[in-house]
Amino acid sequence: MSTRASEGQFARLIASPTERGGDDPIFALNAEATRRARAGEDVLNSTLGTLMDEEGRIAVLPSVCEAFRRIGPERTAGYAPIAGPPAFLDAVVRDVFGPSALAGSTVAVATPGGSGALYLAVTSFLEPGQSLLTSSFYWSPYQTIAQQTGRGLETFDMFSADGGLNVHALERALERDRVRQGRTLLFLNTPCHNPTGYSLDERDWTALVPVLERAAERTRLTVLVDVAYARYAPGDPARWIAWLEPLCGAATLLVAWSASKSFAQYGARVGACLAVESDAEERERTRAALGHACRGTWSNCNHLGMLAVTECLTDAGLAAAVQRERGALRELLAERARRFTELARTARLVLPRYEGGFFVTVFTPDPERTAAAMRQRGVYVVPIPGAVRVALCSTPLCAVPRLVEALAHGVRAAQERPT
Ligand code: PLP
Repeated sequence: MSTRASEGQFARLIASPTERGGDDPIFALNAEATRRARAGEDVLNSTLGTLMDEEGRIAVLPSVCEAFRRIGPERTAGYAPIAGPPAFLDAVVRDVFGPSALAGSTVAVATPGGSGALYLAVTSFLEPGQSLLTSSFYWSPYQTIAQQTGRGLETFDMFSADGGLNVHALERALERDRVRQGRTLLFLNTPCHNPTGYSLDERDWTALVPVLERAAERTRLTVLVDVAYARYAPGDPARWIAWLEPLCGAATLLVAWSASKSFAQYGARVGACLAVESDAEERERTRAALGHACRGTWSNCNHLGMLAVTECLTDAGLAAAVQRERGALRELLAERARRFTELARTARLVLPRYEGGFFVTVFTPDPERTAAAMRQRGVYVVPIPGAVRVALCSTPLCAVPRLVEALAHGVRAAQERPT
């Protein structure tokens, strides 16, 4: 019988997932670039968010590899505790909050990467059918996670005319949320936002905090800070804590923590969701809810990865080596960024303020057209609404001039095309 299973009465997959693309678009572009390179073409692949060295090999931290070697198989063969090993959770809370008093009001659970923490936030702090709120430029899996969990995603215009955070647009979006769903789950990805490399500065925070305080008086507010790239920020990566501290009590503060970038261990799938709740009873309810969600979703996380990362965070010698080695990677990125911004200025490309991290974006009137024109020249970037995302993390310094030339060509192609 030739009837296709996807047709009529023989469709066994329920309707909604059938309509979803199975491939993450970024991974699909990466696969195409890799295929062309393997076929012998001279391809520059600036799509994937993995930090590569100047020779195009994945950058690893030798001290982290040493930590992995130290952990014996007999320690890792068993299941990890559902919420994560207590020593791991303590170390992560210390890594995020340091001496801040917020550490004392924090509960934490282990998650498979920062993605797991985002999943827990969406499913624990939004009812089905409600939407999370984030900036108009955002990491596309935010949308995937929302869709997969029966939630939605709404945005506010990220930038105002002067290039700063558009706090007025955020305030309007908070009010819309209040009226529509009586709560807000706000995702802020700072410092080193993906895809722009933007970090909230003193001016942004000064305008933002009173807006959040007002919103917290009127609605149920949860603010999630996604710190996936924080360790690549210049200066103090924890500047945001002092700004959000006064909000605690009035709002719930979540942190999506990830070892993927900070320890250059993307495949280890180590992360954590931290929740700051000043009320002790609410804190325990939150701990129970998050633990239950872990059990009902992935059961428990990668034991080896969590033990190795704990070692990196708690062994003074290893911790110092990690800092040193990561510092070298940060400098590598900074050098690429300096070259990129210098050439981009000459080529009159328009981009948001870059402060560190793996990516920059270049504004264009037609992102698909820009990316397609660049692909014709063998250069791969990711089209996103209003811009293309450029992974400096995977672009060697010597390829930056080619990248900028291709970008200039791609943006010109978009401008010339009648829309
Ligand atoms: N948040 C942002 C903005 C990211 O770009 C990423 C990874 O690319 C993550 C969170 C989570 O990454 P992972 O699940 O690998 O920890």
